[in-house]
Amino acid sequence: MLLKTEALTKNFGGLTALNKVTFEIKEGEIVAIIGPNGAGKSTFFNLISGFYPSCSGRISFMGKDMTGTPTHEFACSGIGRTFQTTNLFTDSTVLDNLIIGYRSKTKMGMLDAIFNTKRARRDEGASREKAGEILEFIGLTEVKNQPVGNISQEAAKRLAIGLALVTEPRLLLLDEPAAGINHGETSELANLIQKIRQAGITVCLIEHKVQMVMNLADRIMVLNYGTKIAEGTPKDISNNDRVIEAYLGGAEHA
Ligand code: ADP
Ligand code: MG
Repeated sequence: MLLKTEALTKNFGGLTALNKVTFEIKEGEIVAIIGPNGAGKSTFFNLISGFYPSCSGRISFMGKDMTGTPTHEFACSGIGRTFQTTNLFTDSTVLDNLIIGYRSKTKMGMLDAIFNTKRARRDEGASREKAGEILEFIGLTEVKNQPVGNISQEAAKRLAIGLALVTEPRLLLLDEPAAGINHGETSELANLIQKIRQAGITVCLIEHKVQMVMNLADRIMVLNYGTKIAEGTPKDISNNDRVIEAYLGGAEHA
């Protein structure tokens, strides 16, 4: 088992955003989390990536108990993520965004950068090389010198995923990767997610585009008011009465 949560719980004041969620992700899977707004999906990501401490319950990753581990140690542990709203530098080029992302994840400190030390020069070469590989993988080599503000929404989504790949994660968490892009672009993005899995990276995504989720995911977990109400194959989920009532019944997800 790659990731395992047991009765994972998060309260914000009097609100239980995540309520005793027990879930497992196997190596090599594409898993999706769906549910209405406010269901606790992003909170689940925030807990399993160590962004927020949990209130109770346990998290283990690659057999190691991660409960209570500080955020920066999670980042090195093999879990990479994107955020619901992408944090890109729109005035900088596609390539520079990746290089900046790579730098912030390697050991190069501010002083190294200022004094152009040997290590900084070595890391600079390494970060350019790594950025080039990722650009190729996410299909953005041709626009690498464009400012991010000039590229399409879909290309920006790819870049955000590329930034999360910089840490070479074993598990990649994508929070609404297809939000704000059109139908045709959604299938492009789905292809990239398949490619990531083929490269040996396990993927867990939160997504409202139900058709995309049904085509892509091996397994789906459904959250509602912080509670897991269903888990199963896309077929199981689309036939589940509780899920239809809580979520799939809404016409906006068709
Ligand atoms: P989803 O991603 O499924 O839309 P979230 O996990 O973002 O839902 O939110 C679940 C609930 O927790 C919501 O009621 C939200 O308002 C609340 N919540 C999330 N993050 C915080 C926070 N940092 N502080 C207070 N409440 C929060
Ligand atoms: Mg969310």
